[in-house]
Amino acid sequence: MPRTLAVANQKGGVAKTTTVATLGAALGELGQRVLLVDLDPQACLTFSVGIDPEDLDKSIHHVLRGGVKARDVLVEFDDAPDLVPATIELAHAEVQLARETSPEQVLRTALRPLVSSYDWIIVDCPPTLGLLTVNGLSAASDVLIPLQCETLAHRGVGQLLDTVYDVQRLTNPGLHVLGVLPTLYDARTTHARAVLDTIADTYSLDVLQPPIPKSIRFAEAPAIGETILTTAPASPGAKAYRALAGTLLH
Ligand code: ADP
Ligand code: MG
Repeated sequence: MPRTLAVANQKGGVAKTTTVATLGAALGELGQRVLLVDLDPQACLTFSVGIDPEDLDKSIHHVLRGGVKARDVLVEFDDAPDLVPATIELAHAEVQLARETSPEQVLRTALRPLVSSYDWIIVDCPPTLGLLTVNGLSAASDVLIPLQCETLAHRGVGQLLDTVYDVQRLTNPGLHVLGVLPTLYDARTTHARAVLDTIADTYSLDVLQPPIPKSIRFAEAPAIGETILTTAPASPGAKAYRALAGTLLH
């Protein structure tokens, strides 16, 4: 069975999508077979690996709606993780999922035929706590919470954890909170470290190492369908995600 990592935080702009793409690529560099799943109707992950969702006739949306297999929407790459892409139609999924008998379990069931082909499945959750995120959490073995280290950034962490506890109680007792990943981290400020300490203490969460440094290099890579691992391989940001991948593997 692969480790299935849900990357979740209902706050936007905290580097969920960047973490999914870059951590996935870093695990791939370590010889791991990696599948990325785009669960955000904005399809930023799909874009960021170089695919225009407009060019796709089928996506995760059709899989969740039923009648289409995950394997049939899979985009395979030779030198990068495979992808289950999203399209804008996924915006309708919450309403449609709600009509299912087990609305939280649809993704888990849909991914089941693929699990034997991968060592890691990494799910990019949308910036909400709705049914799509609950599906991501229900399909996952672990949840990773990217968090920008700024005051007020942790508002909402309690709500996210409540959702995680609901999922543990109702559908997925094995779901493990891997911890908080500090992102957009500016090591020059003591403020960032202080924020991190507050979160770790308040919620008794592990803080994953190393923090991902803030760098303009992160903005460039997805525009050309790559990650910082190839566009700036020696940068501190690339090194941080490689180190994180190493930590998760051992
Ligand atoms: P989310 O998926 O949580 O909304 P994204 O991964 O899309 O967040 O990141 C939001 C923005 O921040 C993007 O423009 C991305 O390029 C940028 N970004 C992500 N990580 C970093 C970083 N470590 N340093 C600087 N910019 C970053
Ligand atoms: Mg995103």
